[in-house]
Amino acid sequence: MHLLILGGTTEARRLAELLADAPTPGLRVTTSLAGRVAAPRLPPGEVRVGGFGGADGLAAWLREHAVDLLIDATHPFAGTISFNAARAAATAHVPLLALRRPGWTPVEGDTWHDAASLEEAARLLPGLGRRVFLTTGRMGLAAFAGLDGLWFLVRSVDAPGAPHPARMETLLDRGPFTLEGERAVLRRHRIDVVVTKDSGGAATAPKLTAAREAGLPVVVVRRPPAPDGVPVVSTPEEALRAVRDAYARHPAARGGTPAVPEGG
Ligand code: NAP
Repeated sequence: MHLLILGGTTEARRLAELLADAPTPGLRVTTSLAGRVAAPRLPPGEVRVGGFGGADGLAAWLREHAVDLLIDATHPFAGTISFNAARAAATAHVPLLALRRPGWTPVEGDTWHDAASLEEAARLLPGLGRRVFLTTGRMGLAAFAGLDGLWFLVRSVDAPGAPHPARMETLLDRGPFTLEGERAVLRRHRIDVVVTKDSGGAATAPKLTAAREAGLPVVVVRRPPAPDGVPVVSTPEEALRAVRDAYARHPAARGGTPAVPEGG
């Protein structure tokens, strides 16, 4: 049985680790990465890197590599690949499961401003402060490029390229982040306002707590739409159970050969 995990997230890596911790005979696990990060943290198991060439390319890959189960564990803001996965899975008749962590919800003391896009977040900023902690990643900085009156602390894994805000400092780092560390960042850089995507998950949530404690507003960019009709689980452990269920139904579990030959 061949499982393809579309990765690039903590959850995707965790799922690959859970599968590697308890190896299952006859279960092949491949993780796919887009190749955006120069030195990614690699998951155990097989890894392939780079785009497939749209939904058709992904469907062809699924057929060519006899994939039996596809798990879309990409980031909630990676909208294109999720729609491609839904189309490709339907075309290639491969079951698809989405592993998507839930979004964050505000708690008492939070001052959140909803934005539908990075562009809307940029429009809100001048009314909220002058020193901005921008944690939306190095892609999409163009949306903030015209805000010459504001200063930005941009945190990203790799250095951002142009276009970007004129007045900007870069903080190269990757999660998980600690509350103590986030408090220090806000203090040291005299931050007035934080901008984040509604990524969800624990690894990058401490900035929200630090902002609440400091009484700072947070601009939260809402998630893009996800494809309808795809079953969703929210933790790697739930995804692991789904993989085990699929495996139990697969001939590999009985040491046999698949009913449908490779490429069939
Ligand atoms: P995207 O806009 O949804 O996808 C753009 C294209 O990148 C896709 O059409 C596909 O190319 C390729 N691609 C994306 N994920 C892939 C994967 N796991 N394996 C192979 N190809 C992939 O994605 P994105 O927002 O640029 O994100 C790229 C990767 O970074 C994703 O894997 C995601 O999990 C991770 N990530 C994204 C964010 C974010 O905020 N967007 C944050 C953290 C991590 P083809 O059409 O050629 O197949």
